[in-house]
Amino acid sequence: MSIFRLAIPSPLRRQFDYLPPEGMSRAQIDSLQPGVRLRVPFSGRELTGYLLEVCAQTDVPASSLKPALELLDETPLVDPQLLQLCHWAAAYYHHPLGEVYSTLFPKRLREGKPRLPPGSPGWQLTARGKGLPEEALPRSPRQAQAISLLRQQAHITAAELKKNEISNTVLRALQEKQLIEPCVISDHSLTPRSNPGLALNDEQAVALQSIKAAGAGFSCHLLEGVTGSGKTEIYLQLIADCLRRGQQALVLVPEIGLTPQTLARFQQRFDADIAVLHSGLTDGPRYLAWEAARSGAAHIVIGTRSAVFTPLAKPGLFIVDEEHDGSYKQQDGFRYSARDVAVKRAHIHGCPILLGSATPSLESIHNVEAGRYQHQQLTRRASSGGMPDIRALDVRKKVLQAGLSDTLIAAVEEKLQQGQQVLLFLNRRGYAPTLQCHDCGWVAECRACDARLTVHRRRRRLRCHHCGATSALHRQCPQCHSERLLAAGLGTEQTEDFLHTRFKQWPIHRVDSDSMQSKGAMQALADEINRGEPGILLGTQMLTKGHHFPAVSLVAVIDADALLFSADFRGEERMAQLLTQVAGRAGRADIAGSVILQTHYPDHPALLAMLHTSYAEQARAMLRRRQESGLPPAGQLVLMRTDCPNAEYGEQFLQTLRSRSTPRLPAGARLIGPLPSPMQRRAGKYRCQLLLTAPDRRSAQAAAGLLVATAETLSTRQGLSWSIDVDPQDVF
Ligand code: ADP
Ligand code: ZN
Ligand code: ZN
Repeated sequence: MSIFRLAIPSPLRRQFDYLPPEGMSRAQIDSLQPGVRLRVPFSGRELTGYLLEVCAQTDVPASSLKPALELLDETPLVDPQLLQLCHWAAAYYHHPLGEVYSTLFPKRLREGKPRLPPGSPGWQLTARGKGLPEEALPRSPRQAQAISLLRQQAHITAAELKKNEISNTVLRALQEKQLIEPCVISDHSLTPRSNPGLALNDEQAVALQSIKAAGAGFSCHLLEGVTGSGKTEIYLQLIADCLRRGQQALVLVPEIGLTPQTLARFQQRFDADIAVLHSGLTDGPRYLAWEAARSGAAHIVIGTRSAVFTPLAKPGLFIVDEEHDGSYKQQDGFRYSARDVAVKRAHIHGCPILLGSATPSLESIHNVEAGRYQHQQLTRRASSGGMPDIRALDVRKKVLQAGLSDTLIAAVEEKLQQGQQVLLFLNRRGYAPTLQCHDCGWVAECRACDARLTVHRRRRRLRCHHCGATSALHRQCPQCHSERLLAAGLGTEQTEDFLHTRFKQWPIHRVDSDSMQSKGAMQALADEINRGEPGILLGTQMLTKGHHFPAVSLVAVIDADALLFSADFRGEERMAQLLTQVAGRAGRADIAGSVILQTHYPDHPALLAMLHTSYAEQARAMLRRRQESGLPPAGQLVLMRTDCPNAEYGEQFLQTLRSRSTPRLPAGARLIGPLPSPMQRRAGKYRCQLLLTAPDRRSAQAAAGLLVATAETLSTRQGLSWSIDVDPQDVF
C-alpha cells in the first residue's frame, strides 16, 4: 500500500495522509519526489497540497482515507533546498508546514492551476483580442499599436513592448478589456552585461575585497556603513561578479514603491533581466517574475519581504539592504523575519550573504561579536559632503507655530534663501491626533479600538490609524452639541498648512502614506526634488527609507520628544535608527548638512547620546544593556497572543496554558503574564499575551514547542484565536 503524506495549508500543525489518485501506476508513484503539488479533498473543499513523502502505512483508519484527486506536477517546481528552508522555518516559527509551503508559490499555482511554459515574461493576444476588427480602438492609438504588434509576433516580451513605448498602463488597459494576457516566452537566452562601476575609495575596496575573499561558499557579512558611504556601490559590484559566474543574485529591500531610485540604479548598471517582486504587483506579473526567477531567465531578483522565498535556478548571492528595517518581520499569520530566513537560506544553498545598513540591528551586531558574521565598516561618505552637524534645540517656553519654533522657522528661511532644500520630519500623519470638545471635554474615539481617532481635514474624515475605520468629521459635539471642537495635537497636514502660508513663494511637498497613495507618486516627487530647486519636504518615516535627496542641507525633527518615550524594550534602538536615518538625509552632495532636533528634554540621555556619539557607539552601548537585562539578542523571547471578541476568554485561555505548561518548562525559561496587550482592544477584538523568556535559543525553542503543543489540546471558546510569535518585534 502507498500512502501520500502531504502538507496542506490549514491552521492544523500536522501532516495529512491520502491514497494516491486513482489510476496512478506503481512506477509513477515510485518516481514521485517531495514537493509536487496535488489536488485533494479537504473538509468539503478542494485544496492544493504538497507531497512530503510516500510511505507504507498510516494511523488513519482505512475507512476515512481518501484518494488525492489529481497529481498537478510531474516533478517538483521548487528545489530541495527551498523545501528544506520551509521545514526549518515551520519548525523555528512553529507555524503549520502547509501554510509555509504555500508561501513558496504564486497564486496561480497555489490554486492548483498548471504552469505556463518557462522563460521570460511577455504578452499575447487572447481569443477575443485575435478576433478584434482592425479599426477597433480608434481613440487609443497606443493600445491599437500594441495590438498590431502582437498580431505580427504572437508573443512579445515586456521589454520589447517598452522599447516601442508601450507603457504598463496601456497593457493593463488592454488586459482589463480581456484583449491581451501575460504569457511566458521560452526561447530566451540573454547574456547579462554589467556596465563599469565607480572607482572605489579605500574603505569600499577593503570591504569588497574581504567579502570576495570569503569565497563562493556560505559566509555572512554585516556591511555597516554610514548613510551615503557607498554600500549600494558594493552591492552592485558584488552582483556584477555573481553574474559573471553565471549565477543569480537576490536582493531584499524594505519597500520598492518608496525607492524607485535604487531600482533605477540597478537598471542602469546592468543589461540584464531584473525581476521585481513586491506587494503592489498583480497576480499576472507576479507569476511571470516568479517563473523568470525560477527558470534562471532573471539574473537579478529584487523584492520585499516575501521575495525571500522565491525559487532560484542558480543562486549565487543574497543581499538584505537596510537589514534593521522592521518591515522584514511579518506581523501576522506566518510571523517570520525575512532577514533571518535569508541568512538560513544562504547557508542551505552555500552562498555568501550581505546584510547592509547605516544603523544595523542589535541582533546583527551581536552576531558579529559572537563571530557568526564578518564585519565590514564604511565610516565616511563616498561623495564629498561630510557628516551633518547635529544639535538639539530647546523649545521649552518657546512659541510654537504648527510645531515650529521661531529659531527653526528662521533656519528654514535662511536655507531657502540660499537656494537649498529643507526636510522636516514629523512622524504623525493627518491633521491632528485628537478631536476634542472645548465645552464638555468629549474626545472622538474609535468604536472598535482603545484609541483616539485622527482628524484628516483634507478628506474631512476622522480615521482610526489602527483598524482603518473612518467616519465623517463632526460639526457638533455628539455629547453637548457644542460647535467648539478642537483639533488637538499636531499632524503633517496641519504643519503643511502653516508652511504654505509662511513660505508662500516656495514649493512644499508633503510625504506620508496619505499623500503618496498613487503609484509613481514617490518617483514623481523624487524626480522633482532631484532637480535641486529650493523647497520644503515635510513627511513621516516614509522619508527616511533609503532616499537620496542631494540638495537637502537642513533636516529638522519637529517633535523629537515623540520618539523619546517608548514602553517597548526596542524603543531606544528604533529611536536611534530613525534619528540617524533622518539625519543621514542631510548634506549628501557637496553641501554640508545640519540637523536640528526640537525638544523639551534637551538633557535626556538618549538625546545626548544622539548628539555626542555615533550610531555605532550607541548601538554597542545599547547591546551591553540588553545583555545585562537578558533581553534579545542576549536572551530569547516568544509571545503567545490571543484575539477574542470576549474580554475574558483570552486571559482564561492563557492562564490555563500557563498552568499546564509550567511544570514542563525547560530550565531558565520563564512565563510572564497573561497580560492585556498594550492596546487591549483593536478592531473589535480583545488582545491578551503570554510572554516567554529564555536564556538561549535552544530552551526558547523547546518551550515554544511545549506552548504550541499544549495550546492545541485546549478547547477554544467561540471566536477565540491564538498565535505564536518567535522573536517578536513589539512586546510591550
Ligand atoms: P549608501 O548605499 O551607503 O547610502 P551609495 O552607494 O548610495 O551609499 O552612495 C552614496 C553616493 O555616493 C551615491 O551618489 C554614489 O553614486 C556615490 N558613490 C558611491 N561610491 C562612490 C565612489 N567610490 N566614488 C564616487 N562616488 C561614489
Ligand atoms: Zn461637548
Ligand atoms: Zn480602530
